[in-house]
Amino acid sequence: MQDHYDAIVIGAGIFGCGISFELARRGMSVCAVDMNAGPGMGSTSSSGAIIRFAYSTVDGVRLAWEGNQYWEHFGDYLETDEHPNGLARKVTTGMLFLRSDEALHQLYLQTLAEAGVPFEDWSADKVSTRHPWLSTALYGGPCSPEDDAFWQEPIGELPGGLWIPDCGYVSDPQLAAQNLYAAAAAKGATFEFGQRVDNLVLAEGRSAVQGVKLRTGRVLHAPVVVNVGGPWSAAVNDIAGLTNTMAISTQPMRHEAHLAPAPDGLDYERDGTIVGDVDQGMYFRPAPGNNIFVGSTDPDCDGHEWVDNMDTLNREITEPIWSRQMLRVAKRMPEFGVPHERRGLAEAYDVSTDWGPIYDRTDLDGFFVAIGTSGNQFKNACVASHLMGELITAVGDGHDHDNEPLTVNGRFTATPIDMASFARNRSVNTASTGSVLG
Ligand SMILES: Cc1cc2nc3c(=O)[nH]c(=O)nc-3n(C[C@H](O)[C@H](O)[C@H](O)COP(=O)(O)OP(=O)(O)OC[C@H]3O[C@@H](n4cnc5c(N)ncnc54)[C@H](O)[C@@H]3O)c2cc1C
Repeated sequence: MQDHYDAIVIGAGIFGCGISFELARRGMSVCAVDMNAGPGMGSTSSSGAIIRFAYSTVDGVRLAWEGNQYWEHFGDYLETDEHPNGLARKVTTGMLFLRSDEALHQLYLQTLAEAGVPFEDWSADKVSTRHPWLSTALYGGPCSPEDDAFWQEPIGELPGGLWIPDCGYVSDPQLAAQNLYAAAAAKGATFEFGQRVDNLVLAEGRSAVQGVKLRTGRVLHAPVVVNVGGPWSAAVNDIAGLTNTMAISTQPMRHEAHLAPAPDGLDYERDGTIVGDVDQGMYFRPAPGNNIFVGSTDPDCDGHEWVDNMDTLNREITEPIWSRQMLRVAKRMPEFGVPHERRGLAEAYDVSTDWGPIYDRTDLDGFFVAIGTSGNQFKNACVASHLMGELITAVGDGHDHDNEPLTVNGRFTATPIDMASFARNRSVNTASTGSVLG
């Protein structure tokens, strides 16, 4: 059984599979280890997989726009036809960001324009004409149904919305991970499923990583180890002795998303769009079976459920959160009938200090991280895997990334992507929404 590799990847979610593919296609021998039974069975399988481009920084927008091209050309990118369960595909629906927070609206107009992403600034009339099933009532910010303010009349009308036509979602996020897994395997990458990394092998003086120790006692050796543990990233950094060594840290946060039938008479799956609604603290998108996938922007009034131990995460959806979200949808979609059957999922985001990702090396030589994906980086998994491939190669060739951060030109758009924006020791992004919106 082989136990020496060029790189070991901890985690085989969408990121672990993507990075394994990118390293293997660069000629490296790679082993990805995951405690689950197959690819994409961690938080990836719960993803809304929405592809959107409005972020608080221009680099964030550029990354998402370049990332979108990978989904547009997914089959070609994978360089293999070995997909027994078929290929995940992008479904283009457009996205409407309702204009309720003026500062955020203006920020998005600026960052999208600067990054060259097509958009339209719609009036309230245009919103109503194009999406007559949507209420343009303005409520003045989210609040809880326990609060009397929730039941009060709207305070006015939304002035419009930001329409971004190229947004959409990936049909099946777990299948996308399976596709990347197949692509990586076709390039020679090895996967060890049902195996948990419990510790690292470090050089004397703990200056460099040399491999990983599995719970079974088996040791795998490599000069490069990548933490793509998703919501377990902080725990993996901990075994590497890296807790408190980064300006931007990560922590899992429990998150529920729900599924509800579209209103009678509305073919939301065919005619619907993705809606971002910070006025109600939620977003929703079309889902198969004419359903609505409803997520939350986790407004302060709802509180945040930080998770101490991912192994004991409660994955049941709960009545108070489910009913709160359904009532919010009903305010935005007047024809929506609040369903009796509770459907949805509960998982964890891997939230970073400023809700932006960390794609970087670490203070431990050879140990890299693609973490802090904060509920908004599924869309960027392929492009970020390419960035990580370039970074790992450059650092291996002696590049001093900490002092001269790498800029990588997008494979599809040729846009320069400055990796300093995703560094572990960056300044906290004060323009961040402090939410899943990034
Ligand atoms: C409810 C929800 C909705 C989301 N919606 C969107 C969206 O609409 N758009 C978007 O762009 N993003 C979205 N995201 C975010 C996106 O899904 C994640 O950023 C992405 O899936 C993370 O992938 P990953 O590979 O890093 O993590 P994961 O898929 O969680 O994979 C990490 C893997 O690491 C393994 N692992 C961890 N520690 C160890 C260890 N010690 N030993 C062995 N294996 C280990 C785990 O078993 C797991 O399989 C959402 C996330 C959630 C939870």
